[in-house]
Amino acid sequence: MEEVRICDCCGAVLEEDEEYSWVGDDIVCDDCRRDECGCCENCDELIYDSEAIMEDGHFVCRSCYENEYCRCADCERLLHQDDVYTYDDIDYCYDCYEDKAKTIHEYSYKPVPIFYGKGKQFFGVELEVDEGGHDTDNAIEIMEEANFNNEHIYIKTDGSLDCGFEIVTHPMSLEYHLHNFYWEDVLHKAVQLGYLSHQTSTCGLHVHVNRSSLGRTESQQDDVISRILYFVEQNWNEMLRFSRRTQSNINRWAARMGYEHHPKDLLKKAKGIYGRYYAVNICPHQTIEFRLFRGTLKLNTLYATLQIVNRICDVAMNLTDDELKKLSWSEFVSQISEPELIQYLKERRLYINEPITIEEEM
Ligand SMILES: [Zn+2]
Ligand SMILES: [Zn+2]
Ligand SMILES: [Zn+2]
Repeated sequence: MEEVRICDCCGAVLEEDEEYSWVGDDIVCDDCRRDECGCCENCDELIYDSEAIMEDGHFVCRSCYENEYCRCADCERLLHQDDVYTYDDIDYCYDCYEDKAKTIHEYSYKPVPIFYGKGKQFFGVELEVDEGGHDTDNAIEIMEEANFNNEHIYIKTDGSLDCGFEIVTHPMSLEYHLHNFYWEDVLHKAVQLGYLSHQTSTCGLHVHVNRSSLGRTESQQDDVISRILYFVEQNWNEMLRFSRRTQSNINRWAARMGYEHHPKDLLKKAKGIYGRYYAVNICPHQTIEFRLFRGTLKLNTLYATLQIVNRICDVAMNLTDDELKKLSWSEFVSQISEPELIQYLKERRLYINEPITIEEEM
């Protein structure tokens, strides 16, 4: 007695010499094979259509899908692992990777600087924003506010941020930042998209100043930088308050060097220290970087920050070491005339015009 074969798919009884195939443990007739089955594009196993993952032109068995495929983090397209492009440890399809690389640059990205505004002193701002998404579309929206007529900013990833990025301006004069660049629109857009800056524990506001604006020769520049370092150390409590950072946060991201009696000793100390996580980072070749400020999306605070950096550079350029040592915070503040900076100093209770002498406790 011959064994009768039955197609497990359609139930038809197969002729003795009829061809058939195996789908797992099932016997399948040729018609069903053609109409109901296909081969996994990856492992070539014959599987039922109903059990295959058919998406974005793929035809994949369950086991390959689970072990060798993933999805693009942006467009969610199904991808074989060999077709994945990784950017910042996140997997993308080629198209999304291309978009990402064009708008959100790697942390190390450094374009040729474009200088905006007149004069010889320029400020490059790095503003970290977080909690709104590491998102190409958002980056594009912010870029549109800033760059619609000129390439003013670019956007980079930053490993210290959970879900955000760093907005970096090309170098601009203080005047240009205040009166020509669209800070108001950029900050407003960032707020609108749900980003935070001050209200995170991660975000900083860093201001680069070109070394060439501090002196003609390298040794002149070094003298001025030593007085900048000294000013920050001498007025550390006020600078900490101005920065809006907490003590522990500033220790981690923008620590003080530690006071020395002479500006030159401070510079020597700074040059002997490795790393950029200091209030004033002197590692870059073309700039020095004021890192101590906490991030902000408030226009007045951003302006005030640029203005105080400008003022600190001015006193460091115009005073001798001895004059600077004698300069009290209240004398420094009394020179200030910029309304945004005065407003901010008042907000932070740092605007002290009349020095008050307090008698020592008995
Ligand atoms: Zn069949
Ligand atoms: Zn397969
Ligand atoms: Zn994609």
